[in-house]
This record gives sequence, structure tokens and C-alpha cells, in this order.
Amino acid sequence: MRDCAHRLDTTAPGPEGDPVLFWTLGLLLLAPYVAFGNPGPGVEDKVVAVLRRVARGDDGRACAHGRHPYEAAVDDVLERLPAVLEVLSSPANQALDDLFPEDLLFEACLDELEDEEAEPADLSGPEILARWQCPRTAPGFARAALDYLGATVR
Ligand SMILES: [Zn+2]
Repeated sequence: MRDCAHRLDTTAPGPEGDPVLFWTLGLLLLAPYVAFGNPGPGVEDKVVAVLRRVARGDDGRACAHGRHPYEAAVDDVLERLPAVLEVLSSPANQALDDLFPEDLLFEACLDELEDEEAEPADLSGPEILARWQCPRTAPGFARAALDYLGATVR
């Protein structure tokens, strides 16, 4: 937990697929432990501080995507994140022609997204992958983790 927070704290945002996203997702995966376990003194404060910094990185950003994976229900995200991470961390998997949308989280979560502005339901695997690699995705998941922890962005 501390190591993950430290690594996220000392990693600068970079190009697509950058480590900031992976460390942010790491903290999100560990968020239930921070919230309901016994992570030790100071850990939650540290985690929240680091997540806030990442979350604020979204200020003023725009992109062409109608929705992003972080908009899915957090319980769905937590359940499926380990499998998604296998795809995200494997260029070989991403290059496969049969990169399935359901491997990347959106498919089963569509019912939860009722935004009229949202993109069509039939995004392809590579299209969803592009949304994972969007610079707004790490800040979005940082917000989701803060929300899970009952903390505000600021
Ligand atoms: Zn985007």
C-alpha cells in the first residue's frame, strides 16, 4: 500500500499507457483494504493526498471520447480490474484481432451508463482500449478511488 502510494507520488504523467494509470489502478484495487481493513497509521492520509494530486491532473482537459472506463460502477471495476490489467499490461494481447470489448470492462457495465451523450454501445475492443489510454482516465480513476474512500478531490 505504502509502496504503491509512494510510486504514484513520484511518477510524473507521461504518454499513453503511462505508469501513473497503473499505480492509480493499484490504489483503487487496494481501496477496500484502506477503507475497511487496518492499513496502519497515516496510510489513508497518504493515499488520499496522492490520489488528489492525480485527480487534479484532469483540470481543463478535453478529449473526443463520450465516456471512459472510470464511469462504470466502482464495484464492477473492482471485480473486473485484475482481468483488465492483464490486457492493459500486455502489448501482445492488445495486438490480437480478437480483443473483445468485454475484456476491457465496458460491455457488462453499459446498463449503468444512461448518459444520453454517451457513445454507442458497440465500441470495438481497440476503441475501448483507446479510452483506457486517454490522459483523462488516470485522474478519473483517482476520483473514483477518492469517492470510494469518502474523500473529496480538494
Ligand atoms: Zn478520453
